[in-house]
Amino acid sequence: MINFSPYRDIEFADRKHIRKIQESLLQKHARYCAENSPFYNRLLEKAGVSVDDMTLERLTDIPLTSKEDIGTDNDAFIAAPSERIVDIVFSSGTTGVPTKIAYTEHDLRRLAYNERQSLESTGIGSTDRVLLTCTMDRCFVAGLAYFLGTRSIGAAAVRNGHGTLESHTEIIRRIVPTVVIGVPSFLLKLAVHLDASGIDPVGSSVQKLICIGEPVRGSDLQPLPLGRKLKEIWDADVYSTYASSETVSTFCECTEENGGHLHPELAVVEILDEGGQKVETGETGEVVLTPLAVEGMPLLRFRTGDISFLIEEACACGRRSIRLGPILTRKKQMIKLKGTTLYPQSIALALEEIPVVKEHFLEVSSDNTLSDAVTVHVAVSDSDWDAGRIAELLQSRLRVKPRVIIEPLDVIHNQIFSPRYRKPMRFIDRRES
Ligand SMILES: [Zn+2]
Repeated sequence: MINFSPYRDIEFADRKHIRKIQESLLQKHARYCAENSPFYNRLLEKAGVSVDDMTLERLTDIPLTSKEDIGTDNDAFIAAPSERIVDIVFSSGTTGVPTKIAYTEHDLRRLAYNERQSLESTGIGSTDRVLLTCTMDRCFVAGLAYFLGTRSIGAAAVRNGHGTLESHTEIIRRIVPTVVIGVPSFLLKLAVHLDASGIDPVGSSVQKLICIGEPVRGSDLQPLPLGRKLKEIWDADVYSTYASSETVSTFCECTEENGGHLHPELAVVEILDEGGQKVETGETGEVVLTPLAVEGMPLLRFRTGDISFLIEEACACGRRSIRLGPILTRKKQMIKLKGTTLYPQSIALALEEIPVVKEHFLEVSSDNTLSDAVTVHVAVSDSDWDAGRIAELLQSRLRVKPRVIIEPLDVIHNQIFSPRYRKPMRFIDRRES
């Protein structure tokens, strides 16, 4: 069991020191996996990789682990005896079959420490009151993680979870939270509701928004239209945080808002190209994580399926840990249209810059082996605009012309805010996998 307290300030140390600590924790972690995880015991033996004196360079000798590997042989990943498991969750079922993940008491302490490091970097302190709009139950880990982190800081947690807009409004009126954690599009709806209820979000107690699950910043680290709207409507600082149930290691933006800091005592991050090779720092590829010092379901080189890039330059906040850019897309969502690779987010961004577009979603299906068929569904505020005009504007931004269909706003809303999904769903993938 590792006590993380001595590592509280490691991100401010020089790179050499960070590397030394990270490598010694990696050695312990790789050994733990080899000795306790049936899956890794087999995998390492088959690949002929010794975990003795593991180094950050030699880590790449270990084969990658995918979400599908865990789904296929879930129990073989559990590395702690049942008497030490204290919490069991499912990873979100957005891709494939949900995965069962088990945490030990140590893992929950590690999670609390991880969120404390992250939330503190946004300036949250013990006098803050933090409204959590993400659920604590239904076998999700996110709400629990933010609750543990908030407690660990000594701030007050306000656990309203998936409450109604009315109940969150009442809480903002009575408990005057200074921070709200939630999905950005929900935070936007909440501001509109507050305003309609006679509370001006700008004058409200809320000073910080911690955004999860949807991007608020683009690849240039500038706010996306959604991020800009949130900042304006709340007059609050908007921060993005990224993690997954499998990796329980967060990348959270600091007050400088220029990428999410890696906590190097908690994870090793790699960015890989389609062939599984490391890309140059700054280049875009799949985020692969080795979360350190996890007991219940330890992982080595886990492919997150998320696409981003690393930022190496020192941050003005004084931390020297490497940073992760915004998640640009999921690997499975990348679209090939007439020879051009597109991210769903680029199409969404182009749409959001057309003032008459009120709402939109994207539908992708298999056309032929070389190209996907892309249909953009939009609701517009001006009936003079037809689908052709929107398609042409999109072509000028994206270089390729998707098919556009104009539909009534309520039809589009029913699709996006379906109760079947946890988050607004603006991307429907009908391609054969
Ligand atoms: Zn920073």
